[in-house]
Amino acid sequence: MANESLRQQLALLYQLQKRDSELLSIQQKLQTIPRQIEQLEAGVAKYEADIAAKSEELAEAEKAQRARTAEIEMNAVQREKYQTEQRTVTSNEAYTALDRQIEFLDEQDDEAEDAILVLMEESDRLKKELAELDAEINQEKEKTATETEQFRQELRTLETERGEKLKQRKAFLPKIDKVRRDEYHRWIKAQLASESGRARVKSGFIALGKDGTCGTCRIAIQPQTLKEAQKYEKPVYCSSCKRLLYVEPVTPDVPFP
Ligand SMILES: [Zn+2]
Repeated sequence: MANESLRQQLALLYQLQKRDSELLSIQQKLQTIPRQIEQLEAGVAKYEADIAAKSEELAEAEKAQRARTAEIEMNAVQREKYQTEQRTVTSNEAYTALDRQIEFLDEQDDEAEDAILVLMEESDRLKKELAELDAEINQEKEKTATETEQFRQELRTLETERGEKLKQRKAFLPKIDKVRRDEYHRWIKAQLASESGRARVKSGFIALGKDGTCGTCRIAIQPQTLKEAQKYEKPVYCSSCKRLLYVEPVTPDVPFP
């Protein structure tokens, strides 16, 4: 039968489309996984940035603490100088003036000691937070390492699977008429050129017509079109979504799809 050949071609084309849809989803996973790995690594990097910032804060607090301690030490030297001078001054005014200087140094010391206490508390808090972050980052690193390894394993499996499917596809392709498969490949290529087309590729070039409805756009196939398509004499396209129609045969004993 002449029309049997086109029906078979449509069946083969539909099979090819199914194979390609599987290949497409493998391809998508292959593209998604590296991004998932990147996200995991970004999680660790975020912890590293937090730790660096807090370490910087701690270093600043410790530096300020050292500066305040040095201030007290310098004040002690100065105080001793004033006290030595006090032993040699002759006037009461000069003695009292030195007393005031010493008092001023004492006040400065009190202030510095208060500041040191605050800084020490801050340093302790930062050290505690850093220890917590250290524990967290180690957990995060472990988790990332395990999950990354799983992802890499999945990548390897998918790559092997893709290689096998491509080989099978190559062997399958000659079964289909060159005209039909060229039309199919041209359509895929055109769709892949645009962002919106990529979604169309997923729903396919060829649409199954079952129960009088187009399987892609879910709209009822016009009776005249359906009749035409069921003859399998020439390619018939869905009037609404423009897919090539592969319709259920009138005779139920013919395999479909
Ligand atoms: Zn349609």
